[in-house]
Amino acid sequence: MSQRLKLEVKALNTIGGQDLVIFVSDKLTPAKLAEDWLGEGAHALLARAAAADKFKGKVFSGMTLLAPDGAGYERLVVIGVGPDADHDKLDFAKLGGAVAGKLGSGRSADVIIALPDVEISAEQAAAVALGLRLRAYVFDRYKTKTREADDADPITVTLRTPDPAALKKALKACEAVAGGVEIARDLVNEPPNVLYPEEFAERAAKLEKLGVEVEILDEKQLKKIGMRALLGVGQGSRRESRVVVMRWNGAKPGVRPVAFVGKGVTFDTGGISLKPGAGMEDMKGDMAGAACVTGLMHALAARKAKVNAIGVIGLVENMPDGNAQRPGDIVTSLSGQTIEIINTDAEGRLVLADVLWYTQDKYKPRFMINLATLTGAILVALAQENAGLFSNDDELCERLAVAGKATGETVWRMPLGAAYDKMIDSKFADMKNSAGRYGGSITAAQFLQRHVNETPWAHLDIAGTGMGSPNSETNRSWGSGWGVRLLDRLVANHYES
Ligand code: MN
Ligand code: ZN
Repeated sequence: MSQRLKLEVKALNTIGGQDLVIFVSDKLTPAKLAEDWLGEGAHALLARAAAADKFKGKVFSGMTLLAPDGAGYERLVVIGVGPDADHDKLDFAKLGGAVAGKLGSGRSADVIIALPDVEISAEQAAAVALGLRLRAYVFDRYKTKTREADDADPITVTLRTPDPAALKKALKACEAVAGGVEIARDLVNEPPNVLYPEEFAERAAKLEKLGVEVEILDEKQLKKIGMRALLGVGQGSRRESRVVVMRWNGAKPGVRPVAFVGKGVTFDTGGISLKPGAGMEDMKGDMAGAACVTGLMHALAARKAKVNAIGVIGLVENMPDGNAQRPGDIVTSLSGQTIEIINTDAEGRLVLADVLWYTQDKYKPRFMINLATLTGAILVALAQENAGLFSNDDELCERLAVAGKATGETVWRMPLGAAYDKMIDSKFADMKNSAGRYGGSITAAQFLQRHVNETPWAHLDIAGTGMGSPNSETNRSWGSGWGVRLLDRLVANHYES
Protein backbone atom coordinates (compact mmCIF):
# COMPACT_ATOMS: atom_id res chain seq x y z
CA MET A 1 0.00 0.00 0.00
CA SER A 2 1.23 3.49 -0.64
CA GLN A 3 -0.12 6.43 1.25
CA ARG A 4 -1.51 8.78 -1.36
CA LEU A 5 -2.85 11.24 1.18
CA LYS A 6 -1.25 13.74 3.53
CA LEU A 7 -3.80 14.99 6.01
CA GLU A 8 -3.62 18.09 8.18
CA VAL A 9 -6.05 19.86 10.47
CA LYS A 10 -5.99 23.65 10.80
CA ALA A 11 -8.13 26.53 11.97
CA LEU A 12 -10.25 28.51 9.58
CA ASN A 13 -8.23 31.72 9.74
CA THR A 14 -6.49 31.31 6.41
CA ILE A 15 -6.42 29.13 3.31
CA GLY A 16 -3.37 28.28 1.26
CA GLY A 17 -4.12 25.24 -0.88
CA GLN A 18 -4.43 25.11 -4.67
CA ASP A 19 -7.98 23.77 -4.45
CA LEU A 20 -10.77 24.98 -2.20
CA VAL A 21 -13.37 22.34 -1.37
CA ILE A 22 -16.83 23.36 -0.19
CA PHE A 23 -20.09 21.51 0.47
CA VAL A 24 -23.31 22.83 -1.05
CA SER A 25 -26.94 21.81 -0.66
CA ASP A 26 -29.35 21.17 -3.54
CA LYS A 27 -30.03 24.92 -3.52
CA LEU A 28 -26.31 25.38 -4.27
CA THR A 29 -25.87 27.38 -1.08
CA PRO A 30 -22.45 27.05 0.55
CA ALA A 31 -22.00 27.14 4.32
CA LYS A 32 -21.60 30.55 5.96
CA LEU A 33 -18.09 29.57 7.07
CA ALA A 34 -17.10 28.99 3.45
CA GLU A 35 -18.45 32.31 2.16
CA ASP A 36 -15.50 34.35 3.49
CA TRP A 37 -13.01 32.43 1.39
CA LEU A 38 -14.85 32.12 -1.90
CA GLY A 39 -13.89 35.54 -3.25
CA GLU A 40 -15.85 38.03 -5.28
CA GLY A 41 -17.81 36.65 -8.19
CA ALA A 42 -17.65 33.06 -6.98
CA HIS A 43 -21.42 32.80 -6.53
CA ALA A 44 -22.19 33.92 -10.06
CA LEU A 45 -19.49 31.61 -11.40
CA LEU A 46 -20.86 28.68 -9.43
CA ALA A 47 -24.40 29.31 -10.68
CA ARG A 48 -23.26 29.46 -14.33
CA ALA A 49 -21.05 26.38 -14.02
CA ALA A 50 -23.83 24.43 -12.29
CA ALA A 51 -26.29 25.31 -15.06
CA ALA A 52 -23.82 24.33 -17.77
CA ASP A 53 -22.82 21.11 -15.99
CA LYS A 54 -26.37 20.25 -14.84
CA PHE A 55 -24.91 20.09 -11.34
CA LYS A 56 -27.75 20.02 -8.81
CA GLY A 57 -25.93 19.51 -5.51
CA LYS A 58 -27.01 15.88 -5.34
CA VAL A 59 -25.41 14.07 -2.43
CA PHE A 60 -21.78 13.03 -3.17
CA SER A 61 -21.86 14.55 -6.67
CA GLY A 62 -19.05 16.95 -7.50
CA MET A 63 -18.02 19.75 -9.84
CA THR A 64 -14.68 21.49 -10.34
CA LEU A 65 -14.35 25.05 -11.66
CA LEU A 66 -11.60 27.61 -12.06
CA ALA A 67 -11.41 30.19 -9.29
CA PRO A 68 -12.63 33.73 -9.94
CA ASP A 69 -9.92 36.34 -10.53
CA GLY A 70 -8.16 37.43 -7.39
CA ALA A 71 -9.28 34.49 -5.22
CA GLY A 72 -6.68 32.92 -2.92
CA TYR A 73 -6.92 29.52 -4.62
CA GLU A 74 -6.80 28.07 -8.16
CA ARG A 75 -9.81 25.77 -8.41
CA LEU A 76 -13.09 25.49 -6.58
CA VAL A 77 -14.25 21.93 -5.90
CA VAL A 78 -17.94 21.81 -5.06
CA ILE A 79 -19.35 18.68 -3.43
CA GLY A 80 -23.11 18.20 -3.12
CA VAL A 81 -24.72 17.20 0.16
CA GLY A 82 -28.33 17.08 -1.09
CA PRO A 83 -31.42 18.65 0.50
CA ASP A 84 -31.14 20.28 3.94
CA ALA A 85 -33.73 17.87 5.36
CA ASP A 86 -31.31 14.93 4.75
CA HIS A 87 -28.25 16.39 6.44
CA ASP A 88 -28.87 14.83 9.85
CA LYS A 89 -28.44 11.38 8.32
CA LEU A 90 -25.56 12.23 6.03
CA ASP A 91 -22.82 9.56 5.79
CA PHE A 92 -19.71 11.63 6.50
CA ALA A 93 -17.23 8.87 5.62
CA LYS A 94 -18.81 8.65 2.16
CA LEU A 95 -18.66 12.44 1.93
CA GLY A 96 -14.91 12.28 2.61
CA GLY A 97 -14.62 9.60 -0.06
CA ALA A 98 -16.44 11.80 -2.54
CA VAL A 99 -14.00 14.63 -1.80
CA ALA A 100 -10.97 12.37 -2.33
CA GLY A 101 -12.48 11.20 -5.63
CA LYS A 102 -12.55 14.78 -6.92
CA LEU A 103 -9.01 15.81 -5.93
CA GLY A 104 -6.08 15.49 -8.29
CA SER A 105 -2.81 13.81 -7.30
CA GLY A 106 0.08 16.05 -6.44
CA ARG A 107 -2.17 18.98 -5.54
CA SER A 108 -3.03 20.59 -2.24
CA ALA A 109 -6.54 21.34 -1.06
CA ASP A 110 -8.33 23.09 1.79
CA VAL A 111 -11.60 21.41 2.75
CA ILE A 112 -13.97 23.69 4.64
CA ILE A 113 -15.66 21.38 7.09
CA ALA A 114 -19.08 23.04 7.24
CA LEU A 115 -22.60 22.37 6.02
CA PRO A 116 -25.04 25.06 4.87
CA ASP A 117 -27.51 24.43 7.71
CA VAL A 118 -26.47 22.07 10.53
CA GLU A 119 -23.18 22.02 12.44
CA ILE A 120 -20.65 19.23 11.91
CA SER A 121 -19.47 17.57 15.14
CA ALA A 122 -15.83 16.63 15.69
CA GLU A 123 -16.75 12.93 15.26
CA GLN A 124 -18.50 13.64 11.96
CA ALA A 125 -15.53 15.68 10.76
CA ALA A 126 -13.24 12.80 11.72
CA ALA A 127 -15.44 10.49 9.65
CA VAL A 128 -14.81 12.78 6.66
CA ALA A 129 -11.09 12.23 7.25
CA LEU A 130 -11.63 8.47 7.49
CA GLY A 131 -13.46 8.50 4.15
CA LEU A 132 -10.71 10.55 2.52
CA ARG A 133 -8.11 8.06 3.67
CA LEU A 134 -10.07 4.95 2.69
CA ARG A 135 -10.76 6.34 -0.78
CA ALA A 136 -7.12 7.36 -1.28
CA TYR A 137 -5.90 3.81 -0.58
CA VAL A 138 -4.07 2.23 -3.50
CA PHE A 139 -2.36 -1.17 -3.59
CA ASP A 140 0.50 -0.64 -6.01
CA ARG A 141 3.34 -2.59 -4.43
CA TYR A 142 3.84 -4.60 -7.61
CA LYS A 143 3.31 -1.80 -10.14
CA THR A 144 6.88 -0.83 -10.94
CA LYS A 145 5.91 1.68 -13.64
CA THR A 146 2.92 3.69 -12.41
CA ARG A 147 4.48 3.96 -8.98
CA GLU A 148 6.94 6.45 -10.44
CA ALA A 149 4.42 8.33 -12.55
CA ASP A 150 2.88 11.73 -11.69
CA ASP A 151 -0.48 10.27 -10.72
CA ALA A 152 1.19 8.52 -7.81
CA ASP A 153 2.00 11.84 -6.12
CA PRO A 154 0.15 12.28 -2.84
CA ILE A 155 -2.70 14.71 -2.33
CA THR A 156 -2.22 17.14 0.52
CA VAL A 157 -5.50 17.85 2.26
CA THR A 158 -5.99 20.40 5.01
CA LEU A 159 -9.23 20.13 6.93
CA ARG A 160 -10.32 23.64 7.93
CA THR A 161 -12.49 23.77 11.01
CA PRO A 162 -13.35 26.31 13.69
CA ASP A 163 -12.23 23.82 16.38
CA PRO A 164 -9.04 22.05 15.25
CA ALA A 165 -8.25 20.73 18.76
CA ALA A 166 -11.53 18.79 18.99
CA LEU A 167 -11.09 17.38 15.49
CA LYS A 168 -7.49 16.31 16.16
CA LYS A 169 -8.68 14.43 19.24
CA ALA A 170 -11.51 12.70 17.36
CA LEU A 171 -9.13 11.83 14.54
CA LYS A 172 -7.09 9.48 16.71
CA ALA A 173 -9.77 6.77 16.80
CA CYS A 174 -10.44 7.26 13.09
CA GLU A 175 -6.77 6.82 12.25
CA ALA A 176 -6.68 3.60 14.23
CA VAL A 177 -9.66 2.25 12.30
CA ALA A 178 -8.33 3.46 8.94
CA GLY A 179 -5.02 1.74 9.72
CA GLY A 180 -6.90 -1.47 10.49
CA VAL A 181 -8.85 -1.34 7.22
CA GLU A 182 -5.64 -0.71 5.29
CA ILE A 183 -3.92 -3.71 6.90
CA ALA A 184 -6.89 -5.92 6.00
CA ARG A 185 -6.94 -4.62 2.41
CA ASP A 186 -3.20 -5.15 2.02
CA LEU A 187 -3.43 -8.74 3.25
CA VAL A 188 -6.29 -9.55 0.86
CA ASN A 189 -4.58 -7.87 -2.10
CA GLU A 190 -1.21 -9.59 -1.62
CA PRO A 191 -0.47 -12.43 -4.07
CA PRO A 192 -0.57 -16.00 -2.73
CA ASN A 193 3.09 -16.72 -3.49
CA VAL A 194 4.00 -13.88 -1.13
CA LEU A 195 1.30 -14.33 1.50
CA TYR A 196 1.19 -17.95 2.66
CA PRO A 197 0.36 -19.09 6.21
CA GLU A 198 3.79 -18.48 7.76
CA GLU A 199 4.13 -15.05 6.16
CA PHE A 200 0.60 -14.09 7.25
CA ALA A 201 1.52 -15.11 10.81
CA GLU A 202 4.66 -12.93 10.63
CA ARG A 203 2.56 -9.96 9.58
CA ALA A 204 0.09 -10.54 12.40
CA ALA A 205 3.07 -10.64 14.79
CA LYS A 206 3.77 -7.00 13.88
CA LEU A 207 0.81 -6.09 16.09
CA GLU A 208 3.09 -6.74 19.06
CA LYS A 209 4.38 -3.20 18.54
CA LEU A 210 0.95 -1.92 19.63
CA GLY A 211 0.88 -4.10 22.74
CA VAL A 212 -1.05 -7.03 21.25
CA GLU A 213 0.13 -10.42 22.53
CA VAL A 214 0.66 -12.68 19.53
CA GLU A 215 1.02 -16.45 19.79
CA ILE A 216 1.82 -18.50 16.67
CA LEU A 217 0.95 -22.21 16.79
CA ASP A 218 2.87 -24.37 14.31
CA GLU A 219 1.87 -27.76 12.90
CA LYS A 220 3.53 -29.70 15.69
CA GLN A 221 1.56 -27.77 18.30
CA LEU A 222 -1.66 -28.00 16.27
CA LYS A 223 -1.29 -31.77 16.07
CA LYS A 224 -0.78 -31.93 19.81
CA ILE A 225 -3.88 -29.79 20.43
CA GLY A 226 -5.84 -32.01 18.02
CA MET A 227 -6.83 -29.66 15.20
CA ARG A 228 -7.06 -32.49 12.69
CA ALA A 229 -9.82 -30.95 10.59
CA LEU A 230 -7.71 -27.85 9.99
CA LEU A 231 -4.52 -29.80 9.38
CA GLY A 232 -6.31 -32.06 6.88
CA VAL A 233 -7.00 -29.04 4.67
CA GLY A 234 -3.36 -27.95 4.69
CA GLN A 235 -1.79 -31.39 4.24
CA GLY A 236 -1.58 -31.13 0.45
CA SER A 237 0.43 -27.92 0.58
CA ARG A 238 4.21 -27.44 0.72
CA ARG A 239 3.43 -24.52 3.01
CA GLU A 240 2.90 -25.33 6.66
CA SER A 241 -0.36 -24.40 8.37
CA ARG A 242 -0.51 -21.97 11.27
CA VAL A 243 -3.00 -20.74 13.86
CA VAL A 244 -2.40 -17.28 15.28
CA VAL A 245 -3.90 -16.03 18.54
CA MET A 246 -3.87 -12.26 19.04
CA ARG A 247 -4.79 -10.84 22.43
CA TRP A 248 -5.53 -7.22 23.23
CA ASN A 249 -5.90 -6.59 26.95
CA GLY A 250 -7.52 -3.16 27.11
CA ALA A 251 -9.82 -3.84 30.07
CA LYS A 252 -9.07 -5.09 33.57
CA PRO A 253 -7.64 -8.59 33.86
CA GLY A 254 -10.41 -11.09 34.52
CA VAL A 255 -12.97 -9.28 32.35
CA ARG A 256 -14.18 -11.94 29.93
CA PRO A 257 -12.97 -11.29 26.41
CA VAL A 258 -14.88 -10.88 23.18
CA ALA A 259 -13.55 -13.14 20.43
CA PHE A 260 -13.17 -12.84 16.67
CA VAL A 261 -12.29 -15.80 14.50
CA GLY A 262 -11.16 -15.66 10.87
CA LYS A 263 -10.90 -18.09 7.99
CA GLY A 264 -7.47 -17.70 6.45
CA VAL A 265 -7.14 -19.95 3.42
CA THR A 266 -4.24 -18.12 1.76
CA PHE A 267 -5.03 -19.86 -1.52
CA ASP A 268 -7.91 -22.19 -2.30
CA THR A 269 -7.51 -24.36 -5.39
CA GLY A 270 -10.38 -26.50 -4.12
CA GLY A 271 -7.87 -29.30 -3.46
CA ILE A 272 -8.59 -32.66 -5.13
CA SER A 273 -12.12 -31.33 -5.84
CA LEU A 274 -10.28 -28.85 -8.04
CA LYS A 275 -11.98 -25.59 -8.98
CA PRO A 276 -12.33 -24.60 -12.65
CA GLY A 277 -9.47 -22.42 -13.91
CA ALA A 278 -11.41 -19.27 -14.77
CA GLY A 279 -11.24 -16.77 -11.94
CA MET A 280 -9.20 -19.04 -9.70
CA GLU A 281 -6.75 -16.17 -9.10
CA ASP A 282 -9.43 -14.57 -6.92
CA MET A 283 -8.95 -17.39 -4.44
CA LYS A 284 -5.96 -15.49 -3.03
CA GLY A 285 -8.69 -13.57 -1.21
CA ASP A 286 -9.98 -16.66 0.60
CA MET A 287 -8.28 -15.31 3.72
CA ALA A 288 -10.35 -12.10 3.91
CA GLY A 289 -11.92 -13.23 7.20
CA ALA A 290 -8.50 -13.63 8.82
CA ALA A 291 -7.42 -10.32 7.29
CA CYS A 292 -10.41 -8.57 8.86
CA VAL A 293 -9.68 -10.05 12.28
CA THR A 294 -6.05 -8.90 12.03
CA GLY A 295 -7.07 -5.40 10.92
CA LEU A 296 -9.65 -5.24 13.71
CA MET A 297 -7.08 -6.17 16.35
CA HIS A 298 -4.89 -3.36 15.01
CA ALA A 299 -7.80 -0.90 15.23
CA LEU A 300 -8.69 -1.89 18.81
CA ALA A 301 -5.09 -1.75 20.02
CA ALA A 302 -4.22 1.46 18.17
CA ARG A 303 -7.15 3.32 19.70
CA LYS A 304 -6.56 1.63 23.07
CA ALA A 305 -10.08 0.25 23.24
CA LYS A 306 -11.14 -0.58 26.80
CA VAL A 307 -11.93 -4.18 26.00
CA ASN A 308 -10.28 -7.57 26.30
CA ALA A 309 -10.39 -8.96 22.78
CA ILE A 310 -9.09 -12.16 21.23
CA GLY A 311 -8.49 -12.67 17.53
CA VAL A 312 -7.87 -16.21 16.32
CA ILE A 313 -7.08 -16.99 12.70
CA GLY A 314 -6.69 -20.38 11.00
CA LEU A 315 -4.12 -20.17 8.19
CA VAL A 316 -3.82 -22.92 5.59
CA GLU A 317 -3.27 -23.37 1.86
CA ASN A 318 -5.63 -25.79 0.06
CA MET A 319 -3.68 -27.57 -2.69
CA PRO A 320 -4.06 -30.77 -4.76
CA ASP A 321 -1.08 -33.07 -4.16
CA GLY A 322 -0.12 -36.69 -3.58
CA ASN A 323 -0.58 -36.04 0.11
CA ALA A 324 -3.78 -33.99 -0.21
CA GLN A 325 -7.02 -34.85 1.56
CA ARG A 326 -9.45 -37.00 -0.51
CA PRO A 327 -13.22 -36.96 -0.88
CA GLY A 328 -14.30 -39.87 1.30
CA ASP A 329 -11.70 -39.23 4.00
CA ILE A 330 -12.99 -39.07 7.56
CA VAL A 331 -11.31 -36.70 10.02
CA THR A 332 -11.87 -36.12 13.73
CA SER A 333 -12.19 -32.46 14.64
CA LEU A 334 -10.98 -30.94 17.92
CA SER A 335 -14.53 -31.26 19.28
CA GLY A 336 -14.20 -35.07 19.00
CA GLN A 337 -16.85 -35.27 16.26
CA THR A 338 -16.07 -37.06 13.01
CA ILE A 339 -16.44 -35.45 9.60
CA GLU A 340 -16.75 -37.18 6.24
CA ILE A 341 -15.09 -35.14 3.50
CA ILE A 342 -17.47 -35.03 0.54
CA ASN A 343 -15.87 -32.12 -1.26
CA THR A 344 -12.34 -30.90 -0.51
CA ASP A 345 -13.37 -27.43 -1.75
CA ALA A 346 -15.66 -27.06 1.28
CA GLU A 347 -12.52 -26.51 3.37
CA GLY A 348 -13.20 -23.25 5.17
CA ARG A 349 -15.70 -24.84 7.55
CA LEU A 350 -13.11 -27.52 8.45
CA VAL A 351 -10.61 -24.83 9.40
CA LEU A 352 -13.20 -22.87 11.38
CA ALA A 353 -14.59 -25.95 13.15
CA ASP A 354 -11.33 -26.45 15.02
CA VAL A 355 -10.57 -22.77 15.59
CA LEU A 356 -14.08 -21.99 16.89
CA TRP A 357 -14.00 -24.95 19.26
CA TYR A 358 -10.53 -24.01 20.49
CA THR A 359 -11.52 -20.37 21.05
CA GLN A 360 -14.69 -21.02 23.03
CA ASP A 361 -13.08 -23.80 25.05
CA LYS A 362 -9.89 -21.99 25.94
CA TYR A 363 -11.04 -18.37 26.32
CA LYS A 364 -14.74 -18.65 27.38
CA PRO A 365 -15.57 -15.47 25.46
CA ARG A 366 -18.64 -13.26 25.99
CA PHE A 367 -19.37 -13.82 22.33
CA MET A 368 -17.63 -15.25 19.33
CA ILE A 369 -17.95 -13.79 15.84
CA ASN A 370 -16.34 -15.52 12.90
CA LEU A 371 -15.77 -14.07 9.44
CA ALA A 372 -15.23 -16.23 6.39
CA THR A 373 -15.35 -16.10 2.63
CA LEU A 374 -17.26 -19.32 3.11
CA THR A 375 -19.66 -19.92 0.23
CA GLY A 376 -20.31 -18.78 -3.32
CA ALA A 377 -23.96 -19.42 -2.49
CA ILE A 378 -24.05 -16.28 -0.34
CA LEU A 379 -23.48 -14.26 -3.52
CA VAL A 380 -26.45 -16.00 -5.11
CA ALA A 381 -28.58 -15.04 -2.09
CA LEU A 382 -27.38 -11.53 -1.25
CA ALA A 383 -25.14 -10.35 -4.11
CA GLN A 384 -22.41 -8.06 -2.79
CA GLU A 385 -24.70 -5.74 -0.84
CA ASN A 386 -24.83 -7.51 2.52
CA ALA A 387 -22.80 -10.10 4.35
CA GLY A 388 -24.78 -13.17 5.38
CA LEU A 389 -25.36 -13.29 9.14
CA PHE A 390 -26.08 -16.58 10.92
CA SER A 391 -26.38 -16.64 14.67
CA ASN A 392 -27.69 -18.36 17.77
CA ASP A 393 -28.22 -15.02 19.55
CA ASP A 394 -30.86 -12.37 18.75
CA GLU A 395 -29.23 -9.60 20.78
CA LEU A 396 -25.89 -10.02 19.01
CA CYS A 397 -27.71 -9.92 15.65
CA GLU A 398 -29.54 -6.73 16.58
CA ARG A 399 -26.28 -5.07 17.64
CA LEU A 400 -24.54 -6.15 14.43
CA ALA A 401 -27.42 -4.81 12.35
CA VAL A 402 -27.20 -1.39 14.05
CA ALA A 403 -23.40 -1.20 13.71
CA GLY A 404 -23.77 -2.28 10.08
CA LYS A 405 -26.15 0.54 9.24
CA ALA A 406 -23.89 3.08 10.98
CA THR A 407 -20.77 2.01 9.07
CA GLY A 408 -22.31 0.99 5.75
CA GLU A 409 -21.01 -2.57 6.29
CA THR A 410 -24.45 -4.11 6.40
CA VAL A 411 -25.51 -7.64 7.31
CA TRP A 412 -28.61 -9.68 6.49
CA ARG A 413 -29.74 -12.42 8.84
CA MET A 414 -30.23 -15.86 7.33
CA PRO A 415 -31.96 -18.86 8.92
CA LEU A 416 -30.61 -21.77 10.93
CA GLY A 417 -32.74 -24.71 12.02
CA ALA A 418 -33.13 -28.43 12.67
CA ALA A 419 -34.28 -29.28 9.13
CA TYR A 420 -31.20 -27.59 7.66
CA ASP A 421 -28.99 -29.21 10.27
CA LYS A 422 -30.21 -32.65 9.25
CA MET A 423 -28.93 -32.02 5.72
CA ILE A 424 -25.32 -32.44 6.86
CA ASP A 425 -25.82 -35.84 8.51
CA SER A 426 -23.43 -38.38 6.99
CA LYS A 427 -23.78 -42.06 6.18
CA PHE A 428 -20.37 -42.87 7.63
CA ALA A 429 -19.47 -40.16 10.14
CA ASP A 430 -21.13 -37.67 12.53
CA MET A 431 -21.48 -35.16 9.72
CA LYS A 432 -20.37 -34.43 6.19
CA ASN A 433 -18.69 -31.26 5.00
CA SER A 434 -20.94 -30.61 2.03
CA ALA A 435 -24.66 -31.07 1.44
CA GLY A 436 -24.89 -29.97 -2.16
CA ARG A 437 -26.22 -26.82 -3.78
CA TYR A 438 -29.52 -26.16 -2.06
CA GLY A 439 -29.10 -23.73 0.84
CA GLY A 440 -25.33 -23.98 0.49
CA SER A 441 -24.63 -21.01 2.77
CA ILE A 442 -27.05 -22.30 5.40
CA THR A 443 -25.71 -25.85 5.55
CA ALA A 444 -22.18 -24.39 5.85
CA ALA A 445 -23.40 -22.34 8.81
CA GLN A 446 -25.08 -25.42 10.33
CA PHE A 447 -21.73 -27.18 10.10
CA LEU A 448 -20.06 -24.35 12.02
CA GLN A 449 -22.83 -24.38 14.61
CA ARG A 450 -22.10 -28.03 15.35
CA HIS A 451 -18.76 -26.75 16.65
CA VAL A 452 -20.22 -24.02 18.85
CA ASN A 453 -21.77 -24.70 22.25
CA GLU A 454 -23.84 -22.19 24.30
CA THR A 455 -21.52 -19.27 23.53
CA PRO A 456 -23.36 -16.41 21.80
CA TRP A 457 -22.04 -16.74 18.28
CA ALA A 458 -22.40 -15.11 14.89
CA HIS A 459 -21.03 -16.24 11.56
CA LEU A 460 -20.53 -13.63 8.85
CA ASP A 461 -20.26 -15.06 5.33
CA ILE A 462 -18.23 -12.38 3.53
CA ALA A 463 -17.59 -14.16 0.22
CA GLY A 464 -19.51 -11.34 -1.49
CA THR A 465 -18.29 -8.34 0.48
CA GLY A 466 -14.66 -9.14 1.33
CA MET A 467 -13.31 -8.74 -2.17
CA GLY A 468 -14.18 -7.58 -5.66
CA SER A 469 -16.96 -5.36 -4.36
CA PRO A 470 -18.52 -2.77 -6.64
CA ASN A 471 -16.83 0.64 -6.39
CA SER A 472 -18.07 2.76 -3.52
CA GLU A 473 -17.29 6.24 -2.24
CA THR A 474 -14.94 4.78 0.37
CA ASN A 475 -13.43 1.86 -1.52
CA ARG A 476 -11.75 1.34 -4.89
CA SER A 477 -9.59 -1.57 -3.75
CA TRP A 478 -10.19 -5.22 -4.69
CA GLY A 479 -9.65 -6.31 -1.11
CA SER A 480 -12.23 -4.17 0.70
CA GLY A 481 -11.20 -4.66 4.32
CA TRP A 482 -14.89 -5.34 4.97
CA GLY A 483 -15.80 -5.90 8.61
CA VAL A 484 -13.11 -3.91 10.39
CA ARG A 485 -15.31 -0.84 10.74
CA LEU A 486 -18.42 -2.93 11.54
CA LEU A 487 -16.80 -4.87 14.38
CA ASP A 488 -14.87 -1.92 15.75
CA ARG A 489 -18.19 -0.09 15.99
CA LEU A 490 -19.86 -3.09 17.63
CA VAL A 491 -17.16 -3.13 20.31
CA ALA A 492 -17.30 0.65 20.81
CA ASN A 493 -21.09 0.62 21.11
CA HIS A 494 -21.45 -2.19 23.67
CA TYR A 495 -18.34 -3.86 25.02
CA GLU A 496 -15.97 -1.23 26.36
CA SER A 497 -15.82 -0.75 30.11
MN1 MN B 1 -13.07 -23.89 -1.09
ZN1 ZN C 1 -12.44 -21.55 0.54
